[in-house]
Amino acid sequence: MSKGKAAKGIATKQIEMRRCVVCRQSFHKSELLRVVKTAAGDISFDETGKASGRGVYVCKSPECLATLRKRRNFDRVLKAKVPADVYDKIEGLTKEIIRNVN
Ligand SMILES: [Zn+2]
Repeated sequence: MSKGKAAKGIATKQIEMRRCVVCRQSFHKSELLRVVKTAAGDISFDETGKASGRGVYVCKSPECLATLRKRRNFDRVLKAKVPADVYDKIEGLTKEIIRNVN
């Protein structure tokens, strides 16, 4: 019966939570893959998660990763054409992640 106090989460400072562009759920940064668009307009996969620029994220669920590739969600969010090698890179990681899960 702790319902009355649950609402305060909104004002609480969140620790680096980011939203997956596919499922729209929030995850800790470490659970997401990041793609960054720099001020110059270059789009690349950000392995470190620290590159400066506009970051977009996808969670590591196989469903989201497959959907991302199919729908190219990042293109829409960044309003730019994300190079195929960025998606290739993500797809490569996806296979690794799926292998680790099984
Ligand atoms: Zn997701």
